[in-house]
Amino acid sequence: MLRIEDLSKVYATGDRALSDVSLEVPEGQIMGLIGPSGAGKSTLIRCINRLVEPSSGSVRLGDVDLVKVGKSELRLQRRRIGMIFQEYSLVERLTVMENVLSGRLGYVPFWRSWLRRFPPTDIQNAYRLLDRVGLLEHADKRADALSGGQRQRVGIARALAQEPELLLVDEPTASLDPKTSRQIMRLLVEICEERGLPAIVNIHDVPLAQQFMQRIVGLQAGRIVFDGAPGDLTETALTTIYGAEDWNAMRRGDEEQAQAEADARDRMAALAQ
Ligand code: ADP
Repeated sequence: MLRIEDLSKVYATGDRALSDVSLEVPEGQIMGLIGPSGAGKSTLIRCINRLVEPSSGSVRLGDVDLVKVGKSELRLQRRRIGMIFQEYSLVERLTVMENVLSGRLGYVPFWRSWLRRFPPTDIQNAYRLLDRVGLLEHADKRADALSGGQRQRVGIARALAQEPELLLVDEPTASLDPKTSRQIMRLLVEICEERGLPAIVNIHDVPLAQQFMQRIVGLQAGRIVFDGAPGDLTETALTTIYGAEDWNAMRRGDEEQAQAEADARDRMAALAQ
């Protein structure tokens, strides 16, 4: 169980990114975090593993308050949290397998990781994970030879190699096409359900969040303004989260995207004739 209490963050610039955020994520729950740009979603996710230092409040994972632990203890605690972040991208010149094994770096002694000598159990487990995310036959490929969707699958396998108790996922589909986005979300959700693994997913795509998340939390100007089931996310709730103007602009964006996809399909069909 993750329990966040009265979490606030004021950056050195004076920007208040989070104000007294309290939130519990029970075992096995997959929670989507939505809200307009600048609402504090990334800050919230990063405060949990202290990539951003909270200004006040507590973040308890089990019975450890992550805000209170010292530097070396934090390193140990971070093993418990798997991160799938856009910019935590892969090491391009390493193979898929090596990238997955790098998820074990918090566990193996430094000299072993430096020599890239991982215990056989880690290697077997990495093969199992690659099989699970559908990349077994790509194990020896270099990361820079992969497509966007495949890279995100490696990211998932790498996070799981850590055997985390919580997954933090930041915009996992931001650079993917709609079909690949759905495949990645489905994979993430299936894996979390199989393992009873709780996850917080920062997701800018509302329909995708509604389709895949069990619970949705809406942030607006650093505060929680919505917390409920996807079915409760009414027009009114969305207007509260995004503001009328932004929400309408977003909807228009979706319609334009859908139209562009339909046009592309028509063109392909015409070419195929
Ligand atoms: P979101 O992920 O919802 O787009 P962020 O967490 O990135 O929101 O940002 C929340 C607020 O904090 C914004 O006002 C943003 O400008 C500010 N902010 C984010 N990162 C920093 C930073 N490193 N320094 C100063 N202000 C920041």
